[in-house]
Amino acid sequence: MISAEKILSQAEAICQQRSVRLTPQRFEVLRLMSEQNGAISAYDLLDLLRASEPQAKPPTIYRALDFLLEQGFIHRVESTNSYVVCHHFEEPSHTSAMLICGRCGSVTEQQADGVEDILKSLALKSGFKLSHSVIEAHGFCQQCGEIEACTHQDACQHDHSVQSKKRGR
Ligand SMILES: [Zn+2]
Ligand SMILES: [Zn+2]
Ligand SMILES: [Zn+2]
Repeated sequence: MISAEKILSQAEAICQQRSVRLTPQRFEVLRLMSEQNGAISAYDLLDLLRASEPQAKPPTIYRALDFLLEQGFIHRVESTNSYVVCHHFEEPSHTSAMLICGRCGSVTEQQADGVEDILKSLALKSGFKLSHSVIEAHGFCQQCGEIEACTHQDACQHDHSVQSKKRGR
């Protein structure tokens, strides 16, 4: 896991290298995302952005997200319709495995090297030119897994008030 500052300074350096503009607005969206423990929906992001930019509208967010996706700084989590900061975007094309917790909504990105080899050989066999791929896996994070497995709700320290939920709108 790398820090928010590191993510932001890396993104700035990469944009400079590529001569693309990381506008203050794009920067702010990336900054807000880097503070999340996992994925966030576009509308939740818009709410956060409005703290500093009251005029922000949905297209504002989608334009910023498009830019960040294009540069590979973030990934889209299709199954929950949300977005997450990439934790190794210095590698231009990597296969990520997103481990998505169905209880707290946290998303952990793991590099899926072995899986990548399999996908590459599958693509090669069918003459398919692979650009990028994202694997989404659903389940419970370690903490939530423990809580879900707990059988003594009356005598434990867990917060059982949170039920499994779907993130995003
Ligand atoms: Zn990534
Ligand atoms: Zn969890
Ligand atoms: Zn418990």
